[in-house]
Amino acid sequence: MDIRYRSTRSNTYVTASEAILQGLSEDGGLFVPTEIPSLPGSLSELASLSYQEIACRVMSRFLTDFTEDELRACIRGAYDSKFDTPLIAPLTEKDGAWYLELYHGSTIAFKDMALSILPYLMTTAARKNGEDKKIVILTATSGDTGKAAMAGFADVPGTEIIVFYPKDGVSHIQEKQMVTQRGSNTHVIAINGNFDDAQSAVKRMFNDREMEERIGRAGFRFSSANSINIGRLVPQIVYYVYAYCQLLSSGNIHEGEKINITVPTGNFGNILAAYYAKRMGLPVNRLICASNTNRVLADFFATGEYDRRREFILTSSPSMDILISSNLERLIYHISGDDPDRCRGFMERLARDGDYSITDDMRAKLTDFRGGFATEEENFAGIRALYEKTGYVIDTHTGIANAVYRCYREETGDETPTVIASTASPFKFAGSVVGAIAPEKANGLDDFALIDLLSELSGVKEPAAITDIRTAPVRHRTVCDVKDMPAEVERILGVRG
Ligand SMILES: *Cc1c(COP(=O)(O)O)cnc(C)c1O
Repeated sequence: MDIRYRSTRSNTYVTASEAILQGLSEDGGLFVPTEIPSLPGSLSELASLSYQEIACRVMSRFLTDFTEDELRACIRGAYDSKFDTPLIAPLTEKDGAWYLELYHGSTIAFKDMALSILPYLMTTAARKNGEDKKIVILTATSGDTGKAAMAGFADVPGTEIIVFYPKDGVSHIQEKQMVTQRGSNTHVIAINGNFDDAQSAVKRMFNDREMEERIGRAGFRFSSANSINIGRLVPQIVYYVYAYCQLLSSGNIHEGEKINITVPTGNFGNILAAYYAKRMGLPVNRLICASNTNRVLADFFATGEYDRRREFILTSSPSMDILISSNLERLIYHISGDDPDRCRGFMERLARDGDYSITDDMRAKLTDFRGGFATEEENFAGIRALYEKTGYVIDTHTGIANAVYRCYREETGDETPTVIASTASPFKFAGSVVGAIAPEKANGLDDFALIDLLSELSGVKEPAAITDIRTAPVRHRTVCDVKDMPAEVERILGVRG
């Protein structure tokens, strides 16, 4: 079966490799598969396979214009000893829930799961399509994508990567990780604005035809490493299948038994991958979408109205501080009956008025989903309770999913085995995490003292990603206003405006 990719906003169709190269469709829409393939074989067959093998089988169902050899080479390059466990994404049971640890890659957040393979997919796609321009990855980051994308693309021939992050909207460790990034093709810029400002400005650059022409004449083309790129989403489907396989092979569920999946959500990419896994045939009961106090998605699932006209709140789960969840557009497209005209209507209304409401027939297709949110206090209390009960420490993003799930279970009595996507190492957010589990000891400590304390309290050795930044020199110091982002890009590329 040959799967094509279609824009959520028009009748534009491209191949998988073209969709990965382009990132965003020219009409501003996101590429979605024209069909959702079924699982590559029975789950009991898959259960005995390695992460890499499952990745190959699942991804080849979606990326149908890549040869098996090409995909295998991409997977081999991505999922290797950069991960600190051969399991790649281990699953561990604590206090009645299964934590799927997606943070064992080189930048210790789940973004590594897709961004370690995206550069391989992209350079393969460029070769397949005879692209001779240099690929410029433009990325807006709420903290984790930027670092993971740079780690993936650093010194990859034929690419430049430019990352924009909100100056006051990321954790100290996240910022330190980014500004110390090595690689002659990496560029990091702090902006005076929040993540939504950064993401919207990047999207505008993608849609600026004059800019495209100018940089094109200089031998460049843009692409995206944000989860608007389908090359980010497809690799993320893999670990949900893999999690199910681990439960199956360890005898904790029987084949066909349903599981719930809870995902701490910002841009709606990670949970959308779980939705695609379900539509492939993975036995999933509920997809629980967990938000922090920027609860625009929780409200959407409760009311059918998406309303971004609200205060943007900085929280201790900064990678989820988002009011415009880009990937929701893909879900809207699917529940509108794969109708790009309807989908475009909602997105235009969102851009114009800041809100839209879906119809009852669309809401009826959302019964798989359950939205919820947790406050800072609930998050911290949940992290602490889990620690006190089990000694296991989770980060503040996973903490949101943890709190929302435990509340859901209490309210519904739903005892379905549940996988919680554990999206970052607690070391990445050590200040908040120590503040949750041992507030009396946290006072007055600097970042690295907090990390030492966390290591002591959790009995977990600090990850290499942390050790690296203890001594790494700062290499990036640029700060700019949102309106100057395009000029910064042209300056970096040496293009005259
Ligand atoms: C990006 C991120 C999220 C949110 O994921 P989305 O795919 O944007 O919904 C959650 N937790 C962490 C640690 C992240 O880096």
